[in-house]
Parts: sequence; C-alpha cells; structure tokens
Amino acid sequence: MLPDSAPDHPEPLKELLHDVSKKIIPGLTHWQSPSYFAYYASSTSVAGFLGEMLSAGLSVVGFTWLTSPVATELEVIVLDWLAKLLQLPDHFLSIGNGGGVIQGTGCEAVLVVVLAARDRIMKKVGNTSLSQLVVYASDQTHSSFRKACLIGGIHEENIRLLKTDSSTNYGMTPKSLEESISSDLETGFIPFFICATVGTTSSAAVDPLVPLGKIAKSYGIWMHVDAAYAGNACICPEFRKHIDGVENADSFNINAHKWLFANQTCSPLWVKDRYSLINALKTNPEYLEYKVSKRDEVVNYKDWQISLSRRFRSLKLWMVLRLYGAKNLRNFIRDHVNLAKHFEDYVAQDAHFEVVTTRYFSLVCFRLAPVDGDEDKCNERNRELLATVNSTGKIFISHTVLSGKFILRFAVGAPLTEEKHVNEAWRIIQKHASIHNKKY
Ligand code: PLP
Repeated sequence: MLPDSAPDHPEPLKELLHDVSKKIIPGLTHWQSPSYFAYYASSTSVAGFLGEMLSAGLSVVGFTWLTSPVATELEVIVLDWLAKLLQLPDHFLSIGNGGGVIQGTGCEAVLVVVLAARDRIMKKVGNTSLSQLVVYASDQTHSSFRKACLIGGIHEENIRLLKTDSSTNYGMTPKSLEESISSDLETGFIPFFICATVGTTSSAAVDPLVPLGKIAKSYGIWMHVDAAYAGNACICPEFRKHIDGVENADSFNINAHKWLFANQTCSPLWVKDRYSLINALKTNPEYLEYKVSKRDEVVNYKDWQISLSRRFRSLKLWMVLRLYGAKNLRNFIRDHVNLAKHFEDYVAQDAHFEVVTTRYFSLVCFRLAPVDGDEDKCNERNRELLATVNSTGKIFISHTVLSGKFILRFAVGAPLTEEKHVNEAWRIIQKHASIHNKKY
C-alpha cells in the first residue's frame, strides 16, 4: 500500500493522517483494547502519555549530568520514590552506594547487570578464562537472560537453567541451585551470577528469593531479581511478600511499561553498588570530560547503561506517580487481579476446562481438560481453540507450554478492561470450545 521510496516534496498532513487511519491502524494489534489478554500488558495511561509528549517535545539527551541536570536528578529522585513504594531495602536508594536507573527494557537491564557481575568476578579472581564462569537461573527464566549471557561472553554450556515443575508451581528450587553450585565448584568452575524471577513470562511463577538470596550471599554470587511484570504489583502491601528476600539481591528490575501505566518503554533497575555498574560500563572520551564529573559529585547515566543517548523517561514516571498517586495505582493493579480471579472462577466452574497453575497475580493459566487422559489430543484441542478464538478478532489471548502441556494464558492488564470484557472473553472461549470439540 505504500510507495517504494520517500517523497521528494512535502505532503499535506491531512493526507498523511488519512493514510494512518487507512493503512496503519488496520495493521495494528490493539494492545490497549480492553479485550487484549495476551502476553503481558503494555499498560498506558493519560499521565504516561502526557509525560511521553513532554519528553518528546523537550527531546533533551541526559547522558551526563551536565547535558541536562534535571533529567538526571529527576530520575534519581523518582527511582528513590518508587523504591520506597516497593519497600526496597535502603541500599538500593541513592543515599548510599546504590541507586536506580531507567533502562529501556528488561533485556537491557539484565544485560548490564551480567556485565557488571562479570567485571566484578574477573577483578576478584584475577586473570581467568570466561569459559570458567557459570550462571544460574530456572528453566522458566525469560530468554533475555540467555541472550545477555551470550553477549557477555559466557559460554552457552555454562548457562545452567535449573529444572522446575508443577510441584513448586514452576518456581526454582533452592536445593537444585545449591547442588548445581557445589558440583560446579568441585569441577573448577566459577559461579558468579544467579537470575531469580518474580513473575515468570510463561506462568508468573515466583522463585523463592529468601533461600536463593541466602545461597547467593554465602557463595558471593551476584543475584539479580527479574520482576519485570509482577514486581509492579509489589507496590501493594498484599503482594509485597513475593519479593521478600530482595535484601540479599544485588540488583532488582521491574518493567513500569508492563503494569505501572508508564507507556512503552520504562524499565527501572536498582543496584546495590552503583560502582559495579560504572566500573564495567564507564567510558571517558575527552569531549565528555568536565570538572564536576571528575569529582564524582554527580550521576552520569551513560555509565549505567549500554547506549550514550537516552530519553527523558523519568518525566513520565514522575507524572504517573503524581497524577494518580500510589493509592490509585494500587487500585488499578488490584482491579486487574480481581478481574483475573473472576475469569479463573469461570474456568474452575466449567468441568471441561481446568486451571493449570496457582495464580498469584493477574495471569490465569488454563486449558481445555484432557479427555480420557489423552494429553496429545488435549494439546491439539487447545492449540485449535487458541487459533479459533484469536481469529475472531474480538479478543486476543496467548499460550505457553509447561511440562509438555499446551496452555492458554489469560493476562489482564489493559487499562480499560472491565468485568464485561472478561465476561465476553469467557463467552467467546466457551463458545469456540464447544463448536470445535464434540466431547465438550
Ligand atoms: N523478564 C520477564 C519476566 C518478562 O516477562 C519480560 C517480557 O515479557 C522480560 C524480562 C523482557 O522485558 P523487555 O521486553 O522489556 O525487554
């Protein structure tokens, strides 16, 4: 529908907007639709949108303090605010050696901490080969962890993805971690990094941070907590327990663009020791030198991330926190969790379906139950159901596979979703299940 090359002459805005509605909008997947229940949400808000507009209009580039002091200082302050809402330990605040930085995405967050931890261990053990370094996570860990390790030069065969199963609701078992570390030490490997997840991508499983953190601490291993989705819920006192044990973590990350209404993209990362990041990522070209940075009096965020240029993301987070207040943000999250529970009740009441994992947040993992114990057939039926439900274009859900079972994921998180949308989604799912399955 579009020409092969850019126009030589300016075109009228009216025509362009016409093309937006005719050629762009029809190609969108509507992540903000109240009937969007796939993956995890990309939660937007009016406050986040206004913040984005201001940031786009100002378009400052705060890579060092000097290049836009307020862009740096607002980020420091807003991440301290958010750390307090999450009741993170004081060592993640900017008052000591720790602090927060807004990364673009969770992938960038895990990459920079892998690099920081690698730098720290290399300094500690001296001249060692990268082939000796080993890392740990569960087999449910987001794929960004593997990517970060490979970019960081960690050998693929040294990435230990520890097996999980339904007995722990797909959370990592401390015993398997401890055994893996001991066996690696015996064979001369150097364990240096653990990635724990609170709210895995497949099923929102939670790794037990308290015992994992103790193990990490006792072996001097860096522990990162990836709480991209579920960490946002921890601003509510009733969900905070899921990050108990974060005291022993070296770094902690949430995606505020997933479930804190901060629009794409905004991924706050806190570290216990900011110098571990700075030592690994600092660059000092002459053209960026100036007195104040030499004295280490200010934060230069270019040394806490991969890229040099950066967006003024703290502005939208600040606007979200101020325009809604913690009280409303907590209520938005609670509403989503209640809607997920509402959907889960529907599933539980229909004998043809089953809820597959214990739900902690706003994701329900469910499926059409097997008939006569036939798991292969069951997978096939659920695969078909997913395709037909999504092809209605009325709702959008996604899937995962756990212990060989094909599972449907219903994730509530779009800002406009109400009970009537959940009811309608369930009606569509039930209808298509009965059409496609004679034994329904
Ligand atoms: N970690 C978890 C648990 C996630 O669910 C996701 C994305 O879904 C990520 C990391 C990656 O985040 P991003 O897409 O911001 O890189």
